Amino acid sequence: MSFNPALGHELLHERFASGLSNRKLHHAWLLYGVKGIGKATEAMSMAALYLCEDRGPDGRACGSCHACCMLRAGSHPDFIAVERLEKKRDITVDQIREVLSFLSLSGMESERRVVLLDDAETMNIQAANALLKGLEEPASGSLLLMVCHDLTRLPATIRSRCMLGHCAPLGEVHMNSVLAEMDFTDAAKTLAVEIAGGRPGHVASLQDSAVADGLLQWRALLSDIRRADVGELQGWLETHLNLVPHELIADVVLQEAEANLAKIIEFEMHEALLKTMWSLAAWPREVVRHSLRAAPALIALLLELRSVLKGKIAT
Ligand SMILES: [Zn+2]
Repeated sequence: MSFNPALGHELLHERFASGLSNRKLHHAWLLYGVKGIGKATEAMSMAALYLCEDRGPDGRACGSCHACCMLRAGSHPDFIAVERLEKKRDITVDQIREVLSFLSLSGMESERRVVLLDDAETMNIQAANALLKGLEEPASGSLLLMVCHDLTRLPATIRSRCMLGHCAPLGEVHMNSVLAEMDFTDAAKTLAVEIAGGRPGHVASLQDSAVADGLLQWRALLSDIRRADVGELQGWLETHLNLVPHELIADVVLQEAEANLAKIIEFEMHEALLKTMWSLAAWPREVVRHSLRAAPALIALLLELRSVLKGKIAT
């Protein structure tokens, strides 16, 4: 882990650091913004600053004190990270009880305890209600850092009790420095830049050459959706659906659809294409939410897209 503020989120880090040095730190922070931009990394850097025994005047954890070393080793007794368990749809009330009971303890090393709660928007209603009680009566020295990818899915009662920290996608300069640190082939890097949209985490899996090659192949199959061979698309999905992240599969389709959007001037056609694009963007979520079979659902959308484009774009 890094003790520096996450790239692109320095202002938020400064706000946190100044609250801490003025002894006016809010007990619950909610970092929100799209996936893949370093929110959890920044939350870790805040946790480190909070627990560090030798904070610098620059608002950074020292990285070398006992607390920093334990945190780096993943063994700090006053820090836990909680997230949605793999293959589970929600963060459960039991997980939130664990969070609250941890926060209500006295710290082992000092007065301070920190919980990093990731995927906060996936709390189910019981979990959210339990957390709300904890937010109303914070234990002294406790700090809750929540990371949330979709603020609208969190109850307003929770949002209003937190210090909100908006995290934006990274600008070009920061993007370039993050991507330069990652390990892409040239072709994969070009593709990553095109579909990252300021979200390095979104394209991190393209460092795996099997994923990158697969996605490049997918893009080639879709280079003209109107003429794409459905059998080939199905074949690709059979071999790649469990390898390539669904969001990236959808991104490539959306990129192609978007290129066509600019060519359409007629209102109804424009609307039809936008509606299909909306469904395509929602496909990865819908598959999880409604336990859909991913490949048939996507093929149906591709056919819909193809018919919109076929009938409605004059070239
Ligand atoms: Zn330190």
